[in-house]
Amino acid sequence: MPNVFLFDLDMTLVDSSALAHLRRSQMWNAVRQNMNLIRAFPAQGRAAPHELPALLRADGQAVGIVTSSPEWYATAVLQQFRIPYDVLVSYGDTENHKPDPAPIEEALRRLGIAASRESLYIGDDVGDVEAAYHAGLASVAVRWGPTSIFELSSSAPDIFMSKASTLLRRDRIGGRGYIGEALTSKWPFHSHWGSILHCDDEPVVYALGRYFTASDPRHATSPLSAAVLSLKNNDSQAQILGECVGRAVALFDWNPDCIIPVPMKPSQERNRFKELLESASDHFDEDIEVELSGLKTVKEIDGYKQMNALQRAEAIKDAFDTDYTWSGAKILLLDDVYTTGETTRECVRILNANGAGEVRVMAIAKDQRVFSRKTCSACGRSMKIRENHTTHEKFWGCSGYPDHCRHTEDF
Ligand SMILES: [Zn+2]
Repeated sequence: MPNVFLFDLDMTLVDSSALAHLRRSQMWNAVRQNMNLIRAFPAQGRAAPHELPALLRADGQAVGIVTSSPEWYATAVLQQFRIPYDVLVSYGDTENHKPDPAPIEEALRRLGIAASRESLYIGDDVGDVEAAYHAGLASVAVRWGPTSIFELSSSAPDIFMSKASTLLRRDRIGGRGYIGEALTSKWPFHSHWGSILHCDDEPVVYALGRYFTASDPRHATSPLSAAVLSLKNNDSQAQILGECVGRAVALFDWNPDCIIPVPMKPSQERNRFKELLESASDHFDEDIEVELSGLKTVKEIDGYKQMNALQRAEAIKDAFDTDYTWSGAKILLLDDVYTTGETTRECVRILNANGAGEVRVMAIAKDQRVFSRKTCSACGRSMKIRENHTTHEKFWGCSGYPDHCRHTEDF
């Protein structure tokens, strides 16, 4: 059964960043006059992104383009860069648009192919990942787009791709996935740099897979999420999670001197990282020390889970301390789930204030936004999560904006 490769166009196959502002403002006349500003991305490995459709088709694969841009624009870009395709779905072809699955479903319908996880949708932003999820395809996010790693890792695709040529190795794509998900699911697995999910910078945060909350339909089929949840109460999954951590540390291109877990509350008797780190240490260099009590909690915080980000940041200040002087040591801070990062940032601050050389963070899993489909109460079209450019507050906006509907709702 052949794979189908459906691609987003802008910032996935071609670099149209010079026209991003004009496209967002729907100033299509100005876009039309400046098509020469669209660039090819440079080659990565043995292919540049815009060459992928031709290479895949030459290999007998079906290729489609699914874009939210108008048809005249898409066909002009595809012609300009000599990108071949079997099907093109553009803005006018469907009533609903990404992250709604309608455009992807329309492409599959025209190809006469049923949706399956063997087919891939390749895009650069969160809406692409979400549309692929709703359509029942595997999602691939490319790392050369403008989306921040925090945004992308919070709505993580099934596969992160930092090099275009990866897509040409179908034997390898099958064995890709995040190391924590692959090992807990007992999938065949090739370790590679993309098997660790890069979640944040300053501090640098990595996760070993995705954490789906109990309200997310994906929770039921995620052994990693179940394992992380059980670690709060017992050590039944400590062995396998330790293997995930240990093998990820061994895979790193950054060697810490020491691994320290985020500290327990004073009221907690069991250290949930103790057995896990014993298991982990079977897999990495014995020069790396594990310091279970490298950090301690000196202030218990009531009602932390109910607080918003600002209240959390305030409450957690000076909640931790360390008995050591770290003398320039490189420290890997271990946490279970990375959510908004207040706890880890405060731990890193305390370690840095006590002489640490560099601190990076490894979370077993990155929590994920639940993909919920929301329909507009004014017109029935699907709604998208949008952001106010000034306040950066998120809100639901109708996908019929601006021509058909201007309805918004609080996020
Ligand atoms: Zn509407």
